[in-house]
Amino acid sequence: MRITRLDLDGIGSPRKLAERIHEVLDLPLAVPIEELCGALDIVSIEESDSTSFEAALVTDAVKSAGAILVSSSSPGHRRRFSLAHELGHFLIEAHRPREGQPLECALGDLLQSNSRDRDRRRRIEAEANAFAAHLLMPPKRIRQAIGRSGVSLETLVSIARDFEVSKEAMARAFVEANREPVAIVVSRNGQVARFYRHEDFPFLDVTKDKPLPPECAASDSIGAGEFTPQEEVEPHIWVSDRDVARILALTEQALGQVNGYALTLLQAELDDEDE
Ligand SMILES: [Zn+2]
Repeated sequence: MRITRLDLDGIGSPRKLAERIHEVLDLPLAVPIEELCGALDIVSIEESDSTSFEAALVTDAVKSAGAILVSSSSPGHRRRFSLAHELGHFLIEAHRPREGQPLECALGDLLQSNSRDRDRRRRIEAEANAFAAHLLMPPKRIRQAIGRSGVSLETLVSIARDFEVSKEAMARAFVEANREPVAIVVSRNGQVARFYRHEDFPFLDVTKDKPLPPECAASDSIGAGEFTPQEEVEPHIWVSDRDVARILALTEQALGQVNGYALTLLQAELDDEDE
């Protein structure tokens, strides 16, 4: 692989680092993450039985080389994201592990998304995630796929498969990369687990760990792998009264997953597009 850390010299931003790697290399849709780690001075990737972390980076104070440990119980797609996350810690100049002390990342660290968090530890986790997301799921490639196949959960599932990432990781990247105001709600057994909202999407009237709106498609159980049709729904089901007037149309689609999980994709057509 024709890349070295010199090609990335002086780049501090996690997103720009990932973009630069894609400029230097013509990578396939499923980024060969292990090979890339090897080219960028990660000298070993080993499985660990430890339950105290999902993945860890072992390096010295000047980061002359690195080694990654990854949980042996980590499923394939998560393992790829974890490797990209640790590569992020290794490449981002400001992330400096203490000598002799591996930087250990728990499952929760892999979900941190606020790169402006005041807590330094949470912030560096969010930065490593931003790097991993932009490396494995470049927004440009997501937009190309959306341009070809449209905004739908079928598109999301098909690009997650092409990029070899989990649907949940893709859900977040899909919302961020979209040019349209969309949101995705992840639920389990009818309760809201997480949600991702495009910056232009109106405030979502849902609360984590509380039931989904009873009128929505995913509040009934949906078979794993089954897509509901994209349907226009009453905006007040999902959006607070204050924001309903801004919405010309709201479309909903749901996908059932294993273990009671479901994804709901919402697309809003807004009244204030000329503002
Ligand atoms: Zn981390």
